[in-house]
Amino acid sequence: MRAAVVEELGRPLVVREVPDPACPPDGAIIRVGANGICRTDWHLWTNDWAWRGLAIEPPFVLGHEFTGIVEEVGREVRDWRPGDRVVYPMNPGDGVCEFCRDGHQHVCERGAELVPGVSFWGAFGEYVAVRYADVNLVRLPDTLSFVDTAALACRYMAAFHGVTDLAETRGGEWVAVHGAGGMGLSAVQIAAAVGARVIAVDPSDAARALAREIGAEHVIDPRGTDPVAAIREITKGGAQVSIDALGLAETCGNAVRSLRRRGRHVQLGHTTTRESGLVPLPIDEILLNEYRLLGGFGLQGHRFGPMLAMCAAGTLSPGHLVTRRVGLAGVSDVLEAMGRYAVAGIAVIDFDRGS
Ligand SMILES: [Zn+2]
Ligand SMILES: [Zn+2]
Repeated sequence: MRAAVVEELGRPLVVREVPDPACPPDGAIIRVGANGICRTDWHLWTNDWAWRGLAIEPPFVLGHEFTGIVEEVGREVRDWRPGDRVVYPMNPGDGVCEFCRDGHQHVCERGAELVPGVSFWGAFGEYVAVRYADVNLVRLPDTLSFVDTAALACRYMAAFHGVTDLAETRGGEWVAVHGAGGMGLSAVQIAAAVGARVIAVDPSDAARALAREIGAEHVIDPRGTDPVAAIREITKGGAQVSIDALGLAETCGNAVRSLRRRGRHVQLGHTTTRESGLVPLPIDEILLNEYRLLGGFGLQGHRFGPMLAMCAAGTLSPGHLVTRRVGLAGVSDVLEAMGRYAVAGIAVIDFDRGS
């Protein structure tokens, strides 16, 4: 098959023939319809996550947020057949550990071994192998296109989980989203769709314009304005929900400081080498105001139902966030632009499967 291969960390990917993936007995081979290019790919490509023990060894095929068509299933798989249209959550579970049995497959004890494009070769190629198909695969409604829904498997579903399941955002509440990249914009759209009033903070003019278009009532450019003071002013006392969708010390600190008393902070962005996982936070403010700090990581397959129903009804439109389609040869350009925070919206590899 053709794939875009990381031959050397931080260097342009090489599009070439590689062996087709083998089908695991519990898994499936997916013919990739589309694959979102994510900041996680950039972190791995630049070896920015070595400090957390997460690194790829070239040659490697990245790609973990994909949709496609089942090509082949393993002998242990009961529920799936070739031809099924599917989406595969980027943090799958094995179905048997304590957390999977409790319904929280996205925080599976073995999750780190199971992620295509991170643990083993992923979907920057024509085919990808996935594990535990019966536990994790989700049927994609015929009315939703592969390209529009590629990022559902990672950034969009994480934002959905953060806004709905974790923050339990209610209509009329203020939600401040810090960082309007792919995940932040997803959070803006989802929070607006559940009836919240949304404020988006981002230094990129294009990102702020897109945030406004998809439901942000206010946008703030942190280069000229103190976002904490501005959010406190707009909301008359702070947001009920804040989301750090970027993971920088600055965005995380600002997000917590812009909360209203009893507010909920959801951490969706991973930190970079600069923070190496550690961010100074105002502990006494957290204590005195009873802020709640929530970590959010993906979404379990069985919770895709409500999100897909909202997409099918048009209440959510993830396709609106897709600003760029490329072929395999265009992936390096997108990764390089991500390093300069110069990608507004979501870029997707389109394998041109027709729908
Ligand atoms: Zn991703
Ligand atoms: Zn598990």
